[in-house]
Parts: sequence; structure tokens; C-alpha cells
Amino acid sequence: MTEYWPQEDPAIPCMDAGLPFQKGDILQIVDQNDALWWQARKISDLDDDMKIDEKCVEADKEEFVGHGQKFYIAGFRRSMRLCRRWSHLSQLRAKVCGASTCSGAAGAPYEEVVRYQRHPADKHRLVVLVGPSGVGVNELRRQLIELDPNRFQSAVPHTTRSKKNYEMDGREYHYVSKETFESLMYSHRMLEYGEYKGHLYGTSVDAVQAVLDEGKICVMDLEPQGIQVARTHELKPYVIFIKPSSMSCMKQSRKNAKIITNYFVDMKFKDEDLQEMEDLAQKMETQFGQFFDHVIVNDSLQDACAQLLSAVQKAQEEPQWVPATWVS
Ligand code: 5GP
Repeated sequence: MTEYWPQEDPAIPCMDAGLPFQKGDILQIVDQNDALWWQARKISDLDDDMKIDEKCVEADKEEFVGHGQKFYIAGFRRSMRLCRRWSHLSQLRAKVCGASTCSGAAGAPYEEVVRYQRHPADKHRLVVLVGPSGVGVNELRRQLIELDPNRFQSAVPHTTRSKKNYEMDGREYHYVSKETFESLMYSHRMLEYGEYKGHLYGTSVDAVQAVLDEGKICVMDLEPQGIQVARTHELKPYVIFIKPSSMSCMKQSRKNAKIITNYFVDMKFKDEDLQEMEDLAQKMETQFGQFFDHVIVNDSLQDACAQLLSAVQKAQEEPQWVPATWVS
């Protein structure tokens, strides 16, 4: 389930009172007394915490019923067993996740979330950039770091290949044995890894932590499959999806442009490449959209970089929805 339309649900007890919602929406559950149907309100990102709390109190006083408004969420029916364990029902806020891809509650179509604001003395949140190959993820990361290298930094990756003369251990890479690399992989301390010309390369949790420990903002790009590994309370990743603009816009702006891809290879985009990029972006959004905290459409690298800077600042300074398990 990625969205719920009450008017299309023949089982709904009160047709005009259903709450339509879709994957990624934040819902506040205000009543769970009925075993099958919950009452909820939708919280928009524009609501600040103050307003939410005021509305919570109103809901507890049955103001919603008084206004003739009841919200039913059919999609949550099969999750009741899990929810009964949560005590502060009127405080429960859930992010709709869709099918069983949510890591918060195994198999649940939602994840309990809370508002989190980073204290200035706390470590920064890891910034994760995700997007289809060729959309400019790597280039945006590079530009962001270039803007302010004292503030933004990449993690130093690990590799099993040998050090070249001009390289320094801990600067370009951490040079480790295959055994050490594999033990990091098997103990889930590698956020991502891959093989190139028979050697292993990857970024460890500890390398990210080292950047955060220095008081800097660690920026990394990840394949979307790696997001769940990074979603821990220690890294509190803020995930930004870099999305290609529409096919027609891309054709105009990029067909002849040289774009630096994830693999540092200059390439020109053919129509098929652009279509492939758009298809892949759509797949990523469908499958992993519930993990995206922010989406940037890369119409032009300059605009996208400005948007990225502003999003990263907000992520570190303003309240954001995060899984409840990160803040306990
Ligand atoms: P080099 O050995 O020339 O420094 O890097 C060769 C290739 O290793 C890069 O082009 C890239 O494909 C891969 N590589 C470098 N760093 C990483 C990393 O952190 N993770 C992954 N998965 N691959 C990397």
C-alpha cells in the first residue's frame, strides 16, 4: 500500500469521514479504541511542535468529534497487535511507509516517529545523498564540500588495495587487509562497499563517526539499499533524494553537457540514458521514498547545490521527524 483513498474502500464504516493518506505522510493517531479503525489527523511539516501539542489536547477533548470530523485509517488495521504495546496513544505519530519495507516495526506499514531537534552541542547528523547514477549526486557532494571544507567533509573510505607512493594512510583511504575489511562487513560496520579490479572499497561507520567527532558535517552518497544500514540513532542520517528533472527539461539542459558521474567518467547523455535515469529514479522513490527526508530536483547543478546547502542547514538546526527509536 502506498496510498489510501477512503472513497475506494467498500469496508469503511463512514464514507465521508475517511482520511486519505499516502506513503510518507505523518499521521497523529488520536484514538485507537476501535479494534479495526483508528482516528487520526494528518500533520504537515509546516505544523510546528507548539501547534501539534495544542491540537493534541483538543483531540483528547473530542474536539474533532465535536466538529463532526472523524478520521479513519483503514491501512493500519492489521497492525493492532503492535500498537497495543505503545502506551501514549494520543502521542503516537506514525509515518506511513507502505508495504513491509519499513525498518521501524518489522512488517508494519508505518513507523513511529518523533520530532527531533539537534542540540547545538550534539554531533551533527550524517547527510546521505541518494539518486540514480548520472543525476549528479557525486558532483553535488563535491561542490557542497568545496563550498565550506571546514564544515563539510566526506568520510575516508577503506580499501584492500595497496597504498600508492603519493598517498597517505588515513587521507585517501584506510588501507586494510581483506580479513579486516571482511570482518567490518560481517559486523555491519560498513555502510556501503563494492569491488573494483579485485579490491574491496567501502565506507565504515567509524570513518563517518570520525568526521562527526571533529564537529563537521559528514556528507556521503549511498545506494538506496544502504540507507537502512545507516539508519541508526548514532548517525541519525538525513536522507536527501536527488531526482532528475522531467525528460524534456533534461533533454534541453543535459544532452550535450558533460556530467561527472559516480565513477568519475565523463559521458554524454543519450535519450535512452535519460529515460533510464528517470525510470530508475521512479523505482527508487517507490521502493525507498519513505526514507527520504528531502527531495531535490536537479534542474541545474547550481540551483540544486543552493537547495542542498539550505536543506543541510535545516537538517542540523530545525526540528525534523525521526524514528522514535533514535530518541529514547
Ligand atoms: P582508486 O583505487 O583508483 O583510488 O579507486 C578506484 C575505484 O574504487 C573508484 O573509482 C571507485 O569506483 C571505487 N571506490 C573508491 N572509493 C570507494 C568507496 O568508498 N566505496 C566504493 N563502493 N567504491 C569506492
